[in-house]
Amino acid sequence: MVEKGAPVTALKGIGPRSAEELRSLGILTAEDLLRFFPAGYDRPEAVTEIAAAPADVPTAVRGILTTAPVNRGFGNKTVTSFSIADGSGRLGVAFFHMPYLKNSLHKGDERVFRGVISETKYGLRMDHPKIFQPEEYDRLTHAIWPVYPTMGILSQKKLRGAIAQALEVCEVQEEMLPPSLIGKGWMTEREALRQIHFPESEEALVRARERLVFEEFLVFLLRIRLMKAGESRGNPCPMPKTTLAERFRKSLPYSLTGAQAKAWEQIRSDISGEKRMNRLIQGDVGSGKTVLAVMALLAAVENGYQGALMAPTEVLAEQHFEKITKLFAAADIPARCVLLTGAVKESSKRVIRQELADGRADIAIGTHALIQESVAFKNLGLVVTDEQHRFGVRQRETLGAKGMKPHLLVMSATPIPRTLAIILYGDLDISVIDELPQGRLPIKNAAVTPKARGSAYRLIQNEIKAGHQAYVICPLVEESEAMAGENVGDYAERLKAVMPPEIRIGVLHGRMTAAEKNAVMQKFQRDETDILVSTTVVEVGVDVPNATVMMVENAERFGLAQLHQLRGRVGRGDAQSYAIFMDGSGKPRKKERLEILNRTNDGFKIAEEDLKLRGPGDLFGIRQSGEMHFALGDIYQDHETLLKAAEAATELLKEDPRLEKEENRRLKEQIARLLGKAEAI
Ligand code: ADP
Ligand code: MG
Repeated sequence: MVEKGAPVTALKGIGPRSAEELRSLGILTAEDLLRFFPAGYDRPEAVTEIAAAPADVPTAVRGILTTAPVNRGFGNKTVTSFSIADGSGRLGVAFFHMPYLKNSLHKGDERVFRGVISETKYGLRMDHPKIFQPEEYDRLTHAIWPVYPTMGILSQKKLRGAIAQALEVCEVQEEMLPPSLIGKGWMTEREALRQIHFPESEEALVRARERLVFEEFLVFLLRIRLMKAGESRGNPCPMPKTTLAERFRKSLPYSLTGAQAKAWEQIRSDISGEKRMNRLIQGDVGSGKTVLAVMALLAAVENGYQGALMAPTEVLAEQHFEKITKLFAAADIPARCVLLTGAVKESSKRVIRQELADGRADIAIGTHALIQESVAFKNLGLVVTDEQHRFGVRQRETLGAKGMKPHLLVMSATPIPRTLAIILYGDLDISVIDELPQGRLPIKNAAVTPKARGSAYRLIQNEIKAGHQAYVICPLVEESEAMAGENVGDYAERLKAVMPPEIRIGVLHGRMTAAEKNAVMQKFQRDETDILVSTTVVEVGVDVPNATVMMVENAERFGLAQLHQLRGRVGRGDAQSYAIFMDGSGKPRKKERLEILNRTNDGFKIAEEDLKLRGPGDLFGIRQSGEMHFALGDIYQDHETLLKAAEAATELLKEDPRLEKEENRRLKEQIARLLGKAEAI
């Protein structure tokens, strides 16, 4: 008998290598596996006749091989092809890099082929379909199949098997929600977990998801409220002097906008006041939040404290470091900045750690690891988190656990309406920067189909001739069987072939090492690259004002809020900028979504309209915002559930302020579990 706390290897089919992969996803036990949620669901289509099959959407046809598979070489690719027929028509089938298929498929075999049919001048064709035995496919239809977000050796089949076993062994589970809440009609935990993995119907799936989203929000909200209750009052790091910050402000080539100036006044009054600062600066992309962070950091330095600036990515940390050190040098600001990221050599890291410990370094810039790792500060007085996940909650917890009480400034471009912000940010005070720097021209947008790619490239060339730069975003890193979408490496090659030779093209993606990424970004920053072909690693924060074109391939695959973030990479200087959203889907409804981006530049409106257009079938799938990594919940889509969770959290804490009652034990354990995970990541 396998226990629920047993390691995943106790489950049939999970060996050491699969376990390793699961561990990298934070899954150690059978019980952990239950909350490894599907990224989406597969609903196998009923088999259609070839003649009646629609083009360009996933389709299943059942046919007999009328020719034996043949392998042919094209450059370094092997293409395996054959024909099938089903009495209504004939279809060509092709595979890349799968020469061994020739051994398992023969003329006369009958199979179901599931894939996308396209019309070519040689007739109908299906590339890279999935192949099934007809009986096997029959069993698959009529069911909703979970699809898990894995990449390595763990197959969907293996995972489904393991999760089905985990559901069995964790059968005796107690309920996480106390009876007062379950009484309000939420699905039980056991049922919800069962239905989220193996839904019996669409309705059951929706209810299961709702329940689990509620639970996720509730645990999160309880966590911040308990944390807040435990925080001390007073202002342990008073910072009354701001002449250095004001000197820096005067050295800038522009003056602050009204909104920036107001936010600065609020920061100043916080850090010199009676309570330690807990402030959120909310401002759309390009509104100029960074300069406020720098001024606050300088106030810390002038008053004898150290400051830390934490960015969500190494690319962004590096960019902040470069800019800030340059600005300090130009204005002769006596503050020593150090950069601490994974790209920094171990020997330099040691020196930097020493400098932070003995107080020679004033400002540390880095990623979240800055306070997570064993970095000791002599006298940390301010922590700024830029575009940080989950509202800086983790940082506050870590700092609290280390007994440090610096001021906190959280900067976010995620548009959240005030009612939700108050719930999500707990006790943070909020400054809103609702004004863009002067002289910014509105970005010109176009949602286009691949037919317009030629004109898009001409626009890019013209902009480069005029001295500007461009981004092209592709969804994937390398050729993948699962998705035929544009990918960075191949795309850059093709782009080189059609662009004039003097145009310099750089490539950036998440699988590069930190040092490689930095090198690429620096070249782009210094205008030594004209076009940066990238995945969404440039999504947040990157600031290269000379870039004027943002072209997004397969834009239909991105959430609109995310596209809005990407668009925010241009229009950051005074030149006219352009955003081109390439819709590769060929479906009108998708185009309609993209056109919302044309109509408005307001991030929250965009998220709202996006929701209205998405049906329940899209409940999963589109990632709305990189900043809020809830496993299931989406603050926009599930905002009603969020309100309910906030209400429930208030009620629970009223009855049981420290969650000490037995009926709340599992909730408390879940909070502790997440805390432990946050520490481990
Ligand atoms: P975000 O709010 O997205 O983090 P940044 O702080 O990166 O925005 O600022 C975007 C760009 O605007 C930067 O190049 C910055 O130098 C510039 N900027 C900031 N404030 C002003 C201002 N008041 N006037 C003109 N340009 C500004
Ligand atoms: Mg920023």
